[in-house]
Amino acid sequence: MKITSVEPFILHVPLNRSSISDSSHTITHWGVVGVKLTGDDGTQGFGFTGTHAHLASDRLITACIRDCYAELLVGEDALDTTRLWLKLARYPALQWVGRAGITQLALAAVDIALWDLRAKKADVPLWKLLGGATSERLEAYNTDIGWLSIPVDQLVDGSLRAVEVDGYRRLKLKVGSDDIMTDLDRIAKVREAVGPAVTIAVDGNGKWDLPTCQRFCARAADLDLFWFEEPLWYDDIAGHAALARSTPIPIALGEQLYSADAFNAFLDAGAVHYVQPDVTRLGGISEYITVAEAAHARRLPVVPHVGDMGQVHVHLAVWHPATTMLEYIPWIMDCFVEPIAVEAGAYLRPQMPGAGATLTEDAITQFARPL
Ligand SMILES: [Mg+2]
Repeated sequence: MKITSVEPFILHVPLNRSSISDSSHTITHWGVVGVKLTGDDGTQGFGFTGTHAHLASDRLITACIRDCYAELLVGEDALDTTRLWLKLARYPALQWVGRAGITQLALAAVDIALWDLRAKKADVPLWKLLGGATSERLEAYNTDIGWLSIPVDQLVDGSLRAVEVDGYRRLKLKVGSDDIMTDLDRIAKVREAVGPAVTIAVDGNGKWDLPTCQRFCARAADLDLFWFEEPLWYDDIAGHAALARSTPIPIALGEQLYSADAFNAFLDAGAVHYVQPDVTRLGGISEYITVAEAAHARRLPVVPHVGDMGQVHVHLAVWHPATTMLEYIPWIMDCFVEPIAVEAGAYLRPQMPGAGATLTEDAITQFARPL
């Protein structure tokens, strides 16, 4: 199947409330920035990365796809996913300016679209193409109840509803306030409400420094935290290793890392326990697999970060033997021909051929922004 066209797109999709905040970001929309590839048999492959819906920077990503990657793709065999990933990722002039940031986000979109084409051509969902389902149940953990911008009474109500009405067994709460006592109080109130059987992870989004994290962990000892995610600045390997040595609370990270090399450095330093690759930042499915295998070889769990809001990651999670749970944030699901679906706290397996990235015409009409 020869690639005949490369068409980038930018969608800005409003969240399910006016805005949300964590310790480092406040957003009102999610950016779905990507590409549609068409094969000479008419098959269409979709791929995208996730952004904060900032049009100027989103245009850098689509410009990279349109002006740099398109000419490397047109006329190529779409099924050569590995060869084409290498052709784009190692293209000398782009490697010179890239290997992280814009070029890697753009590469992620292209690579996902190539895998989407490949799975559609094989007429199977991606997880089936990769090797089938390796566990009976894929747990969904709910992040959407736990934003830092949610007042504590609503945080408790939302957590209870997620557990008692929707059937979640796993929650994640954002932390990173100016005073750690505020965060400890919020977590304690949720813990008291949901009881000991529900797992509670926390996520600092890189806000605090090492002494603040150590003080927080010491005072959180009785709250049974499942993991502490991005406690420190994203690239601080030595700091995360030091924190990991000083607390029994497991460390989770990876959503801000752009390459397998970056993950290997954290893995080698013993600085991470729950490995959180994001296919939309890592340059796509090809590099994601390298990271998941590196973690698996060390017998560490892989729990993807959902920059795609789970659409593609659900396939990778169903398939990969190191993954038994996946984050849940239901912001953009209505944009897709086969939206993610969670029942009683577990993800359902996608059934349609492809990688789960195919947009509806409605979504494109409603949310597209000018390139
Ligand atoms: Mg996070």
